[in-house]
Amino acid sequence: MLKTVIKIYLSFFCHFFFFQFSSVAFGEISKDQFTELVVALKESYPELTIAINNPLAGEDVWWSLDERHASYSQYKDIEGRVTHNIFFFGGLARMSEMTVEGAALILCHELGHGVAGPPLKENSESAVEGQADYFATRFCLPKVLNKISITLPIPQDPLGVCSTELCQRIYIGIRSEMAVLHFHQPHSIAAFEKIDETVTEHVNRDAYFYPSNQCRLDTLVAGALEQERPRCWWAPISESLPNEN
Ligand SMILES: [Zn+2]
Repeated sequence: MLKTVIKIYLSFFCHFFFFQFSSVAFGEISKDQFTELVVALKESYPELTIAINNPLAGEDVWWSLDERHASYSQYKDIEGRVTHNIFFFGGLARMSEMTVEGAALILCHELGHGVAGPPLKENSESAVEGQADYFATRFCLPKVLNKISITLPIPQDPLGVCSTELCQRIYIGIRSEMAVLHFHQPHSIAAFEKIDETVTEHVNRDAYFYPSNQCRLDTLVAGALEQERPRCWWAPISESLPNEN
């Protein structure tokens, strides 16, 4: 009997976003670029134990898979030490719309499930999708991208609302994410020029609930612009009552 109790509390296929546009040099990212991202993410959160694409299954096995998925699970030993496990399948990296910024956003979203805090999914310690999205662009991506060198000219964001180059780079990541999301939910169309006008009274904490693609786009943009989370999934009362059933 193992003395260490391992608690696995989440494994979700996460978000993928997609989008089309022609002005940005999109393309797959290399293994070396991904490795640089992994280092940047870990250096951004030195207080955390982060394991990406656990090599126990065989080195590079995750990278060799063509599925366009990422997932998160957390392990907590009996002494409460937490390991954040992130899995990033190679199919994502090889998408024509992928960018270094997009891959960083996906890694940040997955980490957000473990560290972004409430609102949490029901019977789970994992942040809901909207919270993980918001964490990604508001808090995590700025840290990670500041550690990644710029190799391409940075295009202006679609609506011209960014005042910094960092903000523009976050938008590049959002565009890649939108491409992934549209791949998985092609009928849930999202556009930068639109907004999900849904007003949520109670956060949907169902483990399998995903906001609309438009709502997720709105959330990512809100994070990039350091605005409050949109009401299409978030409700203020939810934060004051994180244990509400
Ligand atoms: Zn997710």
